[in-house]
Amino acid sequence: VPYQFKDPSLLDARAYVGGQWVSAKNSSTCSVFDPVDNQPVFQVANLSREEVRGAIDAAQSAFQTYKKFTARKRKELLRKWTDIIRANRDDLAAICTLELGKPIAESLVTVDYGISFLEWFQGEVERLYGETIPAAKGDNRIFTTREPQGVVAAITPWNSPVAMILRKVGAAIAAGCTVVLKPAPETPMCAIAIAKLFERVGDGYPPGTLNVVTGDISGAASIGAEMCESIFVRHLSFTGSTAVGKFLNAECAKTLKKTSMELGGNAPFIVFEDADIQKAVDGLIASKFRSSGQTCVCANRIFVHRSIIENFAQKLKASLETTFIYGSVWDSKVNFGPLYSPKGVTKVQQHVEDAVSNGAKLFNGGFIKEDLGPNFYVPTILLDAKPDTMKFGSEETFGPVAPLVPFDTEEEVLKLANTYQSGLAAYFYTENISRLWRVAEALDTGMVGVRVGLISACEQPFGGIKESGIGREGSKFGVEDYTNVKSITVGL
Ligand code: ADP
Repeated sequence: VPYQFKDPSLLDARAYVGGQWVSAKNSSTCSVFDPVDNQPVFQVANLSREEVRGAIDAAQSAFQTYKKFTARKRKELLRKWTDIIRANRDDLAAICTLELGKPIAESLVTVDYGISFLEWFQGEVERLYGETIPAAKGDNRIFTTREPQGVVAAITPWNSPVAMILRKVGAAIAAGCTVVLKPAPETPMCAIAIAKLFERVGDGYPPGTLNVVTGDISGAASIGAEMCESIFVRHLSFTGSTAVGKFLNAECAKTLKKTSMELGGNAPFIVFEDADIQKAVDGLIASKFRSSGQTCVCANRIFVHRSIIENFAQKLKASLETTFIYGSVWDSKVNFGPLYSPKGVTKVQQHVEDAVSNGAKLFNGGFIKEDLGPNFYVPTILLDAKPDTMKFGSEETFGPVAPLVPFDTEEEVLKLANTYQSGLAAYFYTENISRLWRVAEALDTGMVGVRVGLISACEQPFGGIKESGIGREGSKFGVEDYTNVKSITVGL
């Protein structure tokens, strides 16, 4: 690796439970692979279900102390943790590049994005206000307070490990909850490093405030089962696929836990005939090809008005050629990297083959650039795509493929955009002010980007409707989600 770690002790292979670094009791480990060449780079602890139970117990015990901390104290601790993470941002980004194959420049962006959440939550900690409510009975007084819920189980994905973890864990800890985190088996090293930096906050946090339980892909179900069935876990916060999210939500119903679900998207991206075409092209590149297309808010179905689609496709192709620089993921000029695993490549290939065999035309890309590794799938454009008969229409591609679908009317395109079961993000481009409001209000999604391709920010409520999820992350809602409203009625 052409990177010298400033602090190699961040590269621990153990789990973090009750303030202790632990290996699995049976010494079981699992491999973490470098997506650049699919070779194993780390071996981490593969915990059993019983060991996860121990972590939940530690979090429950820590909660008894932590829940009494004042908001000011929680804010100060959060600030210390944030400062320590910021001081180690280069190493954290390098770990992200190692286990996810993200180009180093992109890894730095996602680490900074993660840090922005901690900064935002520092401000929110002291704004968890209650209310006074006029009572119907004159001799009563009614007040509300916001209390932390208890132990939060957090399950995070691989696609932006640092930011996904800090967005969840930071909010829960800001609210006064304690956490058991299960990172994705593909990217546990970022989670471990985050916990190492948490430990360095020192004596402030009770041991067990943050626990990290690692395990292999096949062990996820038993870790998940323990989290869902535990009576101590009061909130399960999950980011991942819709299928797993639905399953976990059903399991959590047995103990009636609160859940936060950030699930799949299949975002529509609409370019109306009155759009500024180059602006729309730039927005699509940001929305579709950032992180090689591996985010849940990436555009997946791209609807372009028939009268401009040829022009749009030509401009998109030309811009792709000048925007992306390929090369070693350790070169800071490089801004496009491989997919996270052979599994990701297979899915992308299937979607492209399926589209082409059903009548789509390959306009650009459509292959793996082998000299850059087995998972390096290049930016791809498909013409004449049809969402009703092709896989991309009902499943996220999660890769750098832009299927362009022609449409004729606003009514038709809104129907197409809204038919799908998910409702995370939608994007559209228009220069018409009344269409701007009309379409933004008509789209059935939790988030809408109008004339922008990037919408995620710490202050913005992030989340979906329909089968894209429950709850919001970031913003003031992201912290409130980890609190219970208590009403106190006082008789005079
Ligand atoms: P992806 O296909 O993007 O990996 P998943 O939904 O499978 O999406 O994974 C997201 C996270 O959910 C990962 O941390 C994964 O290990 C975890 N996960 C997958 N299946 C389960 C399960 N049955 N119980 C708990 N966690 C699970």
